[in-house]
Amino acid sequence: MSEEKAFHMSRDEFRELGHKVVDWIADYQGRVEDLPVLSGVAPGDIRRLLSPSPPQQGESLGQLIEELERVVLPGITHWQSPNFFAYFPANTSGPSVLGELLSAGLGVQGMLWVTSPACTELETHVLDWLVEMMGLPDAFLSGSSGGGVIQDTASSAILCAILAARERATAGASNAKGCDGRLTAYVSSESHSSVEKGIRIAGIGSQQLRTVAVDDTMAMRPDLLEDQIEADRAAGYTPFFVCATVGTTSSHAMDPLLEIGEVCKRQEVWLHVDAAMAGSAAVCPEHRLLFEGLELADSYCFNPHKWLFTNFDCSCFWVADRAALIGALSIMPEFLRNQASEAGGVLDYRDWQVPLGRRFRALKLWLVIRHYGIEGLRHHLRQHITWAQELRAWIEEDERFELTAPTPLNLVCFRLCGADEINQRLVDELNRSGALYLSTTRIHDRLSLRLCVGQTHTERRHVVSAWSRIQAAAATA
Ligand code: PLP
Repeated sequence: MSEEKAFHMSRDEFRELGHKVVDWIADYQGRVEDLPVLSGVAPGDIRRLLSPSPPQQGESLGQLIEELERVVLPGITHWQSPNFFAYFPANTSGPSVLGELLSAGLGVQGMLWVTSPACTELETHVLDWLVEMMGLPDAFLSGSSGGGVIQDTASSAILCAILAARERATAGASNAKGCDGRLTAYVSSESHSSVEKGIRIAGIGSQQLRTVAVDDTMAMRPDLLEDQIEADRAAGYTPFFVCATVGTTSSHAMDPLLEIGEVCKRQEVWLHVDAAMAGSAAVCPEHRLLFEGLELADSYCFNPHKWLFTNFDCSCFWVADRAALIGALSIMPEFLRNQASEAGGVLDYRDWQVPLGRRFRALKLWLVIRHYGIEGLRHHLRQHITWAQELRAWIEEDERFELTAPTPLNLVCFRLCGADEINQRLVDELNRSGALYLSTTRIHDRLSLRLCVGQTHTERRHVVSAWSRIQAAAATA
């Protein structure tokens, strides 16, 4: 092969195809509303359309758009459809997609400050902005004892919180010698499964995770939490970690942070607060009461990749004492030594997360916040909440239905009065129609439908139409 021969895409080719791809995305945003929300393909349908072996010689990507339409699109469940109401949203937006593209174009790996100072400093800055815009505790600011970092997911944030708590509780002995089976952690029956996964990964053991009962609103009972912690301590265990949730996944229950925080302070236990989706609501001052007591937390996370118009992945994680986190996760091998780290005064975010490498996620979040401004973000979050509350009122007025949980923000949980089977038939029929997508859960041991209003392009008319379809389907379920 000649020295000059190269297989890379030329800049002209990249520019031409790149423009087509951006055009395709813009067109997709315009027509996604008319596509069936839930993909209807059967297992294996997509793979059957793909070449069985990789190409020996490179191919032109001139057919990319055609293949995207023919092969990929049928297998897409359209999370960006304004009729997507299932799970929690994973919403995106124009500025976010452009930020992601720029991040890929720059292709930096920001493991250390020195490997791309802007990657670290922009991240620190944006996380400080969020503290201000969401009224979060001052201890989370980078200029204090704590600070924030972007993780891939809330699951990773929870794992990091567990690791920091574990090391604090054992004065570093767990990292040095492993766990001794005495540490105990606490969640409610409604906490996300990522806490148990983190507890397993951290070597604590699922059996050491205590499940605290909830009240009628599905919120953790602080009195029972304290009783359990005291009983464990009396039995020779070391309680070390509590996870409270602002907006549980099933029913959007709100754990009482202030009381739980006071228990954790009294009992000297690390408190992590998981507000994966509901956290975005703190942009609106009128919803900050839900976060009262957050100043007692040791760590906190919420996902802009759920409900802040920022595409997956982007999970913001703050700690009140960064030394605890860095102490748990930092190892300095010879090949990473550099003057900036050794002189101090810089943050090396590799010490704030499990992987070494990290991408430039702050860029998309920065563009989202700059594009919308606080005003724009508040406007759209408030609309989502208002429409969810309207839907709640319509459900209340229709005697065929019952609400199954309070609706503090934008998730409405309800069911058709009657057996679980009828409700399953109802949701299956609605989802099969392609006109909308809902998900289900169990609340008080009965099947419940969940409708979450949080997609970027959802308008009131989409919620109105969803309710009409639900009512019509109920007539024949
Ligand atoms: N915590 C809560 C309350 C969630 O609802 C979710 C996901 O929906 C998670 C944690 C996990 O989020 P992630 O996918 O970012 O790990």
